[in-house]
Amino acid sequence: MHGVGRKFAHVVIPSPVKDPLIYSVPSALEARLATGMRVLVPLGKRKVTGVVVGFSAQTSLEKVREILDVLDDRPILDSSLLKLCDWITKYYASSLGEVLSTVLPPLLRLNSQRVVVCRKGFFKLGGRLEREIYAEVEKRGRILLKTLSRLFSGRALYRALNRLVSIGAVEIEEKLKKNRQGRTEQGLAVDPEMSLNKPSMLTLTPEQEAALQSMEKRLEEGGFGTYLLFGVTGSGKTEVYMRAMERVWKRQRRSLILVPEISLTPQLLDRLWERFPNQVGVLHSALTPAERWTQWWRIIRGEVMVVVGARSAVFSPVPNLGLIVVDEEHDPSYKQEEGLRYHARDLAVVRGKILGCPVLLGSATPSVESFHNARQGRYTLLELTERVEKRSMPKVETVDLRLGAREQKNTADHQSSMASFFSPRLREALQENRARGQQSLIFLNRRGFASFLQCCLCGFVLRCPNCSISLTLHLKVRGLFCHHCGFRNLVGDLCPGCSQRTLTGIGFGTEKIEEELLRLFPGARVGRMDRDTTSKRGSQERLIRQWERGEIEILVGTQMITKGHDVAGVTLVGIILADLSLNLPDFRAAERTYQLLSQVAGRAGRGKEPGRVIIQTYLPDHYSFQFAVDHDYEGFFASEVEFRRALNYPPFSRLVHLRFEGINLQEVEQKAKIAGLKLKRRQEDGEGAARIEVLGPAPAPIEKLRSRYRWHILLKGKKSSPLLELAKELQVLFSRGSVRLHIDVDPYHML
Ligand code: ADP
Ligand code: ZN
Repeated sequence: MHGVGRKFAHVVIPSPVKDPLIYSVPSALEARLATGMRVLVPLGKRKVTGVVVGFSAQTSLEKVREILDVLDDRPILDSSLLKLCDWITKYYASSLGEVLSTVLPPLLRLNSQRVVVCRKGFFKLGGRLEREIYAEVEKRGRILLKTLSRLFSGRALYRALNRLVSIGAVEIEEKLKKNRQGRTEQGLAVDPEMSLNKPSMLTLTPEQEAALQSMEKRLEEGGFGTYLLFGVTGSGKTEVYMRAMERVWKRQRRSLILVPEISLTPQLLDRLWERFPNQVGVLHSALTPAERWTQWWRIIRGEVMVVVGARSAVFSPVPNLGLIVVDEEHDPSYKQEEGLRYHARDLAVVRGKILGCPVLLGSATPSVESFHNARQGRYTLLELTERVEKRSMPKVETVDLRLGAREQKNTADHQSSMASFFSPRLREALQENRARGQQSLIFLNRRGFASFLQCCLCGFVLRCPNCSISLTLHLKVRGLFCHHCGFRNLVGDLCPGCSQRTLTGIGFGTEKIEEELLRLFPGARVGRMDRDTTSKRGSQERLIRQWERGEIEILVGTQMITKGHDVAGVTLVGIILADLSLNLPDFRAAERTYQLLSQVAGRAGRGKEPGRVIIQTYLPDHYSFQFAVDHDYEGFFASEVEFRRALNYPPFSRLVHLRFEGINLQEVEQKAKIAGLKLKRRQEDGEGAARIEVLGPAPAPIEKLRSRYRWHILLKGKKSSPLLELAKELQVLFSRGSVRLHIDVDPYHML
């Protein structure tokens, strides 16, 4: 598409609320420029980086500025990714600028503190400019980008530099980042002959075989189709993913696999590396922007056949993509909760559809939405009903914590046993397991030592000054923390209300449980895994490795411990208080509870020895627990889906959540009410499928967060497009002013 059709380029600047801007294309650049490349453009007095999303022959604008430079040799976004971006702007009521700033690694900006670092090795350098730049960088070892741009001013520095980055000759580091890790794999020479991977020695089970068989045509020939691999924990889902990846690679097609959190799945990475040596690209949140670009370029150049990453890896620019896998597809971490609020699993399916490639979703506890889609025939259901080698599922039992049901005879006994949080049954089981030299997991989805501090004299509760939340006591670091905004206060002895020494810790978290375990089992090797013990780089992986090697006997943790570890020595799982996730004001509370319980229970008995799971609860009759005891996902689904149908919640309806935020409570409330009235007036117009329910406005359950007050409205309807239209109308009204409107399509957290 050369010539007149390319006179003007549509350029998106990756920043919130920006639509494409028009620039003219100087004839010198015309031949090199294509859709999906980055360009340097003037914006006001600044020079900024943008991405070309299209061309036109004419413009109605009178004054158009020129593109200054082309920064890439080849498009960094291919047409299918651009289509996906476009789809996202419409579905999530967002702008292309915002979408691109989420999709692309942070862009190289002009005047920043970045350092160009020379890398050793032999590189095929391009033209004279590249050689000169490389010589300069090599001479000094490292040089500020600013200095370099002064030395080469007036020449096409950025384009040449990008090429040097892309061939690995130099790296661009951010000056402030010191601790650089997580660069496993980088710097490995890539041998084009290395496409031979290590074949698996395992003989597939008949169920694994059948699952692959169903996908055969799509893996071989391509074409869109969504498969839901519903396989109990330990049934060999990962093996199925890897075989499917091998299949598509035989046809020179690449795979993308999404996992909930990379740092929690070192075992999966090990397995991928072993199976596809030197062929795995990893994208994770600990990468610096420069490392992210390095990975991005490796992926674009097709140097890896498998890309693995968390949520945002759904955007990775894999050429010739033949398969997208979403492991643990039910996991809430696929939903981004800030900025562009997208769902990576849903986008994986959309991307597969745009590209025409199969999408494989896997889980032992599928989301209600996905299982419903499978039942409706939109997804193909593949089942693995047994653990590999016929290992038995763990035996699950509940312990009723209610007073009347307990083994104790009087309240004094009850209190003393409750003070320990371990029912006699769980205590005995732990004792036995230790005696047999086996490992135990203790799960509690709340960290800290006490949930809050209260004065037992005047009732004063220590709260966060920024949020409508009480502060959690953490003993080891002697601090009171807000789990929402990170506010920290030292623990004083006196009640701020009445100045007495009367503050008492109420409630409990993992830190308290750890202390109790050490008291109950002196000398036991107890470990704890939650956000407090894993905040240092590498500490989490260290804990997981110790656990794998059996150096920890009892591991206490939050939901971090529920995911993917496959440790053969674990035969007991205890759940301290299973009701925590059930009592949240959220229509997915039961689903979330069932998933958490099944996942954590699935950690038990993965070796030769059978596993045992003990669930402590005040609500033993709740269907979430009853079906968890029987490992009956389909039973759970049947009950849950009835509840959803009765209350018209997803998958029987679509939701759009509107949150109004501002620093002045009266203003927020007033604006939310005005919006509510507008919506209700519009709602009366709708009929049938276009009917919309408007719930609220009301204060959000967490009314104040990070010093901002929050009100919300929930829109509910059969289809999402009428909901979106309404939301977009409001968006225009709220684009200026002190109260901001956040639109969340298919919301997860409405707190
Ligand atoms: P899931 O992902 O369903 O929890 P995994 O794929 O992790 O299950 O498999 C559990 C264990 O069983 C792993 O150690 C894996 O190597 C092993 N495994 C998988 N498939 C087979 C098979 N066909 N034969 C023997 N062992 C297998
Ligand atoms: Zn706070």
